[in-house]
Amino acid sequence: MSHKQKIVTIDGPSGVGKSTISRRVAQALSFTYLDTGAMYRAVGLKLKEAGLDLDDESALRTCLDSVRLDLLPAEEENDDVGVVLDGRDVSREIRSPEMSMIASRVSALPVVREKLTHMQQELGKKGEIVAEGRDTGTVVFPLAAWKFYLDADPEVRMQRRAKQLREKGESVDEQELLAMIVKRDRDDQARSIAPLCKAKDALVIDTGVLTIDEVTRAMLKVIG
Ligand code: C5P
Repeated sequence: MSHKQKIVTIDGPSGVGKSTISRRVAQALSFTYLDTGAMYRAVGLKLKEAGLDLDDESALRTCLDSVRLDLLPAEEENDDVGVVLDGRDVSREIRSPEMSMIASRVSALPVVREKLTHMQQELGKKGEIVAEGRDTGTVVFPLAAWKFYLDADPEVRMQRRAKQLREKGESVDEQELLAMIVKRDRDDQARSIAPLCKAKDALVIDTGVLTIDEVTRAMLKVIG
């Protein structure tokens, strides 16, 4: 245990309740919450706006060299973290379904993963963080002391996501949303680097059959 980092990793596909659960676990432990997906979303926005050819690795590298990312604590308990990209608040913009797909696309690029993995490891250096994403237990923090992998049926995840979007006043096409979730899972699992998968030493929790409170309690019990 002594060589392990005082870090909790929470990975899994989209819509399993990772963000809400991660925020609650972080709050209960007084750890910092690190939303790695928000970082992929912000970089996705930057590359989209720069209009770069995603095959041009050297142009991508130059663009990423200048990126400045700041994560801000959520304003309200149930809000996502805020993100400031190169001095501009993009917190809302990066949360659209379109940006989810763009984030997934750019997250398969080695140069993007290299950059963000490094940034995340720097942020986690001092420990006491709850890192949420797809590869936080496998690649970013392999020595984390507590690893969880959350999963749930795609239909359940779609219904949760639909509710969140409706609460933000957005209209939802359920079939389209389900197709996007399934595609994003497939792309995240199939990519050659840091694919979405369970770390060997992660505890799997099915969040489709438990409430958010039950999952949070179960995790805090394991952490002790
Ligand atoms: O978690 P969130 O839905 O915000 O993540 C957006 C996308 O960013 C994911 O679909 C995934 O492709 C990518 N991602 C990743 N590795 C992480 C976190 C997110 O590849 N650690």
